[in-house]
Amino acid sequence: MEQKEDKLKEVISHAKEYGFVFPSSEIYDGLAATYDYGQLGSELKNNLKTYWWKSMTQMHENIVGIDAAIFMHPSTWKASGHVDAFNDPLIDNKDSKKRYRADVLIEEHIEKIRQKINKEVEKASKKFGDSFDETQFLATNPNVLRNSQKISEIEEKMRITLENNDLEGVRQLIIDLEIVCPISGSKNWTEVRQFNLMFSTELGSVAGDASTIYLRPETAQGIFVNFLNVQKSGRMKIPFGIAQIGKAFRNEIVARQFIFRMREFEQMEMQFFVRPGEEMKWYEYWKETRVKWHKALGLGDNAYRLHDHIKLAHYANAACDIEFDFPMGFKELEGIHSRTDFDLKQHENHSGKKMQYFDPELNESYVPYVVETSVGLDRMFLAVLSNSLKNETLNDGSERVILSLPYALAPYKVAVLPLTKKDDLPEKAKEIINNLKFDFQCQYDEKDSIGKRYRRQDAIGTPFCITVDHETLENNSVTLRDRDSMEQIRISIDELQFYIDKKVNMKYLLKK
Ligand code: ATP
Repeated sequence: MEQKEDKLKEVISHAKEYGFVFPSSEIYDGLAATYDYGQLGSELKNNLKTYWWKSMTQMHENIVGIDAAIFMHPSTWKASGHVDAFNDPLIDNKDSKKRYRADVLIEEHIEKIRQKINKEVEKASKKFGDSFDETQFLATNPNVLRNSQKISEIEEKMRITLENNDLEGVRQLIIDLEIVCPISGSKNWTEVRQFNLMFSTELGSVAGDASTIYLRPETAQGIFVNFLNVQKSGRMKIPFGIAQIGKAFRNEIVARQFIFRMREFEQMEMQFFVRPGEEMKWYEYWKETRVKWHKALGLGDNAYRLHDHIKLAHYANAACDIEFDFPMGFKELEGIHSRTDFDLKQHENHSGKKMQYFDPELNESYVPYVVETSVGLDRMFLAVLSNSLKNETLNDGSERVILSLPYALAPYKVAVLPLTKKDDLPEKAKEIINNLKFDFQCQYDEKDSIGKRYRRQDAIGTPFCITVDHETLENNSVTLRDRDSMEQIRISIDELQFYIDKKVNMKYLLKK
C-alpha cells in the first residue's frame, strides 16, 4: 500500500515537472480536484482522443460523432433523472471531519477481503508450484470460501440498502463492518445523507427556479436529445451509434486522487441504438470490443478487470465496469451500460416529441434500446501515464527514468539532436525537422551532452532520437535511437519518414 501511494506521488510530480499536468490556478494555491494539462499533457490527451474517436467513427461505418453544447435545457436533467436521483450517499467522520462516500467506504472494505483471498492464492501457488490448480483451490479452500461468502453477503446488503434508499441501513452496515476512518482511525460516524452532484448556475440575469441551468454531469444526454436529428440528417439505420467527446462536471464529495476524480473532467461516450430485445447481444459485443481497444495499447492484459455492477443505476438493465490497476489499486476506468429505452422514453414524455425510429425491415416504429460505452479521458490519461512511468536499471548499473508510452500516443514522436552546436550541425538538424514535421510532432534539442538529452526524451516518452553528427554532412546518414531498446542504427535521412511511420502511426494500433 505504502509503495502504491509512493507511486501516485511519483506520477504527480513527474507530470508536473515535465509539463503534463499542473494543479489548476496554482499561483493561488490551486483549486481542489481541478487540473490543467500542460504542453505535453495536451498532446498526449489529444492522441488519446484521436485513438478513441477513430476507433469509434472511422472504424465503424454505422457510428458518427457529434459535439453538443455543455448547457442544455433544464428539462433534460429532469427527464434523465439527474435532478432527483443523481446523488451520492455521504458520511462524515466526526473526529477527522473528513467526508466520505458511504458506498466507497464499503467497497474498500470488500476490496480488503478480496486482497486476503488473493494472498491465500499466492501463498498456495508458491507452495504447490506447477501442480497448483487455482480454480479448484478457490472452490474448496475453507478460508477462501468463508471470505467469498462474506463478500457476497456485504454486497447483497449494500445493494438492498442503496436500492431502497435506506440511508440508515447503509450507516448501520458501516458500523456493523466496523469500518474506521482512514485518517482518525475512529468509528465516530454521522448520519448518511444524499448529496446531488450537479453544479447549477443561472441563465441570464434573472434568478429563480425557471432560469436554473446545470453544467452537464455527463455527455450522454447531448446525444439522446439529438438522436432524431442525427438519425434523419445522416439517414442512419439501426443499429447505429453516436459518439461524443466533451467536458462533464460533478461536484464530487471525495476528490483526492489526482486526475482520477475531478470536478471538471472529460468523457468519451458512445450511445449505440439497437432493436428492443437485441440489447444483450450488443452489450456483450461492446464489452468485448472495448476490452480489446484497451488491451491493444499493450499496458499488460493483467492490468484490466471486469466488474459487474451490484447496484444498477436507475436507467440500466445490465452494467459493468472495465477496471484498471491504477496506483491506488483496481478502479473504474470505463462503464458499459445497457440503458434500455429509459432515456429516449423519458425525453418523449417530458418534451412531448416522438423519439421513435421506423424500422423498414420490421415495418414498425419503436423507441430504440441503447447500449452505452463511457470512458473517462482523464482516467485513460492516468492509466497510461502511471503504467508507463518506470525506473530502469541498465546493464552498466546506471538508472534511467523512462515513460514507455505506446509509441502512437507519445507527445513527441521524434527528437532531433545535433551532436554539437557548431559546424552547421544545428542547421542540418533543423532541415530534418522541417521535412519530418508534416508527419510527426518533432522536438529540437541542442543543450547538454547527448546522453543527458537522451534521458530527457526517455522521461517524456519520445520513441525516437535522431542524432546529427559530422558523418551526416558527408553521407546524409544519421543515428536513430529507439527509446525502449536503446538500440542505435545508422540510417539514411531519406528513409527516416518511412521507418518511423511504421512504428508510430496510429493506424497500426487501430488495426490490432
Ligand atoms: P465513479 O463510480 O468512479 O464515481 P461513475 O460510475 O459515476 O464513476 P460514470 O457515470 O459511469 O462514472 O461515468 C463514466 C466514466 O466517466 C467513468 O468510467 C470515469 O472514467 C469517468 N468519470 C466519472 N466521474 C469522473 C470524475 N469525477 N473524474 C474523472 N473521470 C470521471
